[in-house]
Amino acid sequence: MSYDTLLYNIGELILPAPGPLKGEGMKQLKIKENAALAVKDGKIAWIGSHEESIQQQAETKVDAGGKVVSPGLVDPHTHLVFGGSRENELALKQAGVPYLEILKKGGGILSTVQATREESEDKLYEKAGRSLQRMASFGVTTLEAKSGYGLDRENELKQLRVVQRLRDQGSLDIVSTFLGPHAIPPEYKQDPDGFLDEMVKLLAEIRSENLADYTDIFCETGVFTIEQSRRFMKASQDLGFQTKIHADEIDSLGGTELAVDMGAASADHLVAASDEGISKLAEGQTVAVLLPGTTFYLGKNEYAKARKMIDQGAAVTLATDFNPGSCVTDNLQMIMSLAALKLKMTPEEIWNAVTVNAAHAIGRSDKAGTLEIGSAADLVLWDVPNYQYIPYHYGVNHALAVWKHGRKIWGRRDADVFSVPQPEREY
Ligand SMILES: [Zn+2]
Repeated sequence: MSYDTLLYNIGELILPAPGPLKGEGMKQLKIKENAALAVKDGKIAWIGSHEESIQQQAETKVDAGGKVVSPGLVDPHTHLVFGGSRENELALKQAGVPYLEILKKGGGILSTVQATREESEDKLYEKAGRSLQRMASFGVTTLEAKSGYGLDRENELKQLRVVQRLRDQGSLDIVSTFLGPHAIPPEYKQDPDGFLDEMVKLLAEIRSENLADYTDIFCETGVFTIEQSRRFMKASQDLGFQTKIHADEIDSLGGTELAVDMGAASADHLVAASDEGISKLAEGQTVAVLLPGTTFYLGKNEYAKARKMIDQGAAVTLATDFNPGSCVTDNLQMIMSLAALKLKMTPEEIWNAVTVNAAHAIGRSDKAGTLEIGSAADLVLWDVPNYQYIPYHYGVNHALAVWKHGRKIWGRRDADVFSVPQPEREY
């Protein structure tokens, strides 16, 4: 048997157990040392020891140099498609203006809504495509992308079509989420329920065109209430959508409890989740998607209680929340560092969070997050000596090479900065 690709001399091969991993389960992480792995037809075909790999035939052989190989990372919460940028708001934040205040003045998300409405579908496609390339370079091979900057029929559908095109034509797996009720547009300022009716009406059209797998709603003071969120989630589920909710980010409204009660796939943010909400997460099937990059970027000191969630038995995952206002990063490795520093998660928990649990939160447990015989050959070769190293050395890109379905989609060539002779090795 000749394989397509053989990775040998792998110092540590990260093999997360199939998820979702809850509580104690998140604390275990299987590592195979001195490993090798072979790929055939886009799938993992063989896993063995480095010594055994000498017998294996392959078209392409890659010396992993004793470094770390993991499944491709999964980013389960991004606002990938948007027009414009909001660097001007950084100064407002530095001056201590709260986000809800910026929103009231027509800034914040509403300025992105305007820029997204004005942008053509092709331009949005190109812009989001560049973000995807960056995400891939950071080791992400599967992600979720939300709409929510159109806030009317035409522009929400435009955003979802961009995601569909990226999904059809790009190399990464993208799960599409309709987040029509992301904010209340100026034209509905006096009639939030009327706006929600419009978004509910859109569900059937999105379903029939297969433009989204999930729906999502921003449940927060000044945006949508618990009752409105329940109504939208129910309408979504009646049409066969799975649901997600931006819950308890700023105020403790009970969105976490609602998510579990409604059987939502995930509850996201959860900085202000109540003790009862956390207990419910531990008992229920809903995954907690934590977004420490957002708390960090908003300059806040109170982070989601990841330790309590995991210790009580919840399934926790991590995401970038990549968006132009509250978290402007598409680097999931940076989020891994924040999870260690601010959420006090262990390296084992962090790896499980960004692989199997992230895949589960977006319904891709069977397609991403693990490395087993027959699973997709989504792989990252990391320029690090061990799996604990990535959260530790923060703010840089440690990925050396990234494969999606066995095809190399990104690789780094080291620059010869110090004129130290390097063996010629292309990743
Ligand atoms: Zn979000």
